[in-house]
Amino acid sequence: TRPSDGIVGPGSWSLHRRAIQALVGGVNSPSRGLEAVGGGAPPYIARADGAYLFDVDGRAYVDYVQAFGALILGHARPDLREAVVRALERGVLFGACHEMEVRLAERLQVVMGAMCERVRFTASGTEAVMTAVRLARAATGRRLLVKFAGSYHGHFDAVLVGAGSGASTLGLDESAGIPDGVKADVATLPYNDAETAERFLRERGDEVACVLVEPIVGNFGLVEPEPGFLQRLARAARRAGALVIFDEVITAFRFGPGPVYPQLGVEPDLITFGKILGGGLPIGGYGGRRAIMEQVAPVGPVYQDGTWAGHPLSMASALATLEILTAETDLYPRLGRLGQALAQGVRDLAARHGVPVVVHQRGGAVCAFFTREPEVRDFGGVQRSDARAFATFFRSMLARGILLPPSPYEVWYVSAAHGEEEIDKTLQAIDRAMADVARA
Ligand code: PMP
Repeated sequence: TRPSDGIVGPGSWSLHRRAIQALVGGVNSPSRGLEAVGGGAPPYIARADGAYLFDVDGRAYVDYVQAFGALILGHARPDLREAVVRALERGVLFGACHEMEVRLAERLQVVMGAMCERVRFTASGTEAVMTAVRLARAATGRRLLVKFAGSYHGHFDAVLVGAGSGASTLGLDESAGIPDGVKADVATLPYNDAETAERFLRERGDEVACVLVEPIVGNFGLVEPEPGFLQRLARAARRAGALVIFDEVITAFRFGPGPVYPQLGVEPDLITFGKILGGGLPIGGYGGRRAIMEQVAPVGPVYQDGTWAGHPLSMASALATLEILTAETDLYPRLGRLGQALAQGVRDLAARHGVPVVVHQRGGAVCAFFTREPEVRDFGGVQRSDARAFATFFRSMLARGILLPPSPYEVWYVSAAHGEEEIDKTLQAIDRAMADVARA
């Protein structure tokens, strides 16, 4: 890849050259680099507005990354910005208790029900999951964490064993630097395989503290649980005396103004969330029934704290986000319609050019797997997909002003700021990009 390949402009190339001399690999989060899609300079963003990102060369991109699922309202929404600015004017950080964190917790008691009888806010999803796992281990007096291959739950040691998302993109399903002792306390099972999970929990259930699962996977593409999978998993876990943790960092507020688990008909013991709730500011959190949650300090013996936890700006942004998500009753149905139009468009255009794809969609979340297999139901299915075809597709789309996440393991997100105009523009680009894939 050369600066003259035209997919990004000279300003982005110049910043990329500086970045790799100063930031490790040029990035602060490996998911943002283009390593998995042929390399080269990513667009350096100067400004964001609605469905669009604008780079330093003045190029506009329809943005389907939406901050890796952290945004659902699009960029720089005026009413959300106002709420944050009003909070900013009262001070940035108190390091003390304040009303907004109480109000947000009370709102979550309503929208999350039993899963937020008691809640604790953190600064990131990673911290939320890390503490939920610690809490489960303390509550059960057991050590084993059961999770699923290719799922991503943050970047603390235990969950990087068999991790998905950015780690998989770079072939780092097993990060270096994780002690054998930590690995010994983690079991990684295949997603959507109820039999294997039941067998494991029958044989080793008395060692298992918790089963940690994305109820709908958003980290090896978008993969939904097959009917009965989560129910059988939860039943087997409870029979074994283990807790069920739903990691809803991606799914909460993505498919409705609350968690996704009620739509799936199965309830966990603990829930973790983050991303969308923060409205673009850093947030995470975990919650559950009072009896479990009150094992956390200062009431109980499980320790967790944080300088940034309950940050006033994040709380203000979250309150405003939640208000918008619950007030705009057509928001989720509209995302569903746009998502469906995009997904069907991808299927039709791929077929027109003879490119085999499997397309998954739920609400505004869409992802296309370049595979000849009839279905994708687990991590292996994504690993066997054609990464080179995806790279060609990604680069072709980027050159046409459509920004997808730079990895076949990430989901494309339609936001509330997207409209039919953006979808049409995207489908025109897809038509050309599928032709490029067919030709490659
Ligand atoms: N859990 C899931 C399901 C996630 O997708 C992510 C982030 N992609 C995390 C946890 C970690 O969240 P954060 O990046 O805020 O630490």
